[in-house]
Amino acid sequence: MTARPFSDIAYNQYLNEEKLMGCKCRKCGERYVPPRPLCVKCFSPDLEWVEMKGAGRLAAFTCIAIAPPFMMAQGYNRKRPYISGVVELDEGGRVDARIEGLDPMRPEAIRIGMPMKAAFIHRKDVEVPETYLAFEPS
Ligand SMILES: [Zn+2]
Repeated sequence: MTARPFSDIAYNQYLNEEKLMGCKCRKCGERYVPPRPLCVKCFSPDLEWVEMKGAGRLAAFTCIAIAPPFMMAQGYNRKRPYISGVVELDEGGRVDARIEGLDPMRPEAIRIGMPMKAAFIHRKDVEVPETYLAFEPS
């Protein structure tokens, strides 16, 4: 594995390559997605990159009708909300991400614990194309 720094920039570079990367503490085994330079559980700085399979379960979600400006620019508003959630990965670690493939107008149909898989959304409608992480039902 390449020795990229444990930064959001490196994490986003990996997303561009359709890789969900986290880091694993070599001392206690705790995993972090996105990576952190220091283990917050045992305070060890001895971490390594690990590629995550991206399978997990929905741990929490919220349907957002009042979007931040960059989301409003993508066309989200009160009539077109979107879902933001937390997914507990099967391999360990919790990741915040957009949730796709579910109806934000019907939050009662969304169940905590439902199986999810990672999806890489490539945005090309912006000045600098970027990839962001989303999860969808698996
Ligand atoms: Zn640790």
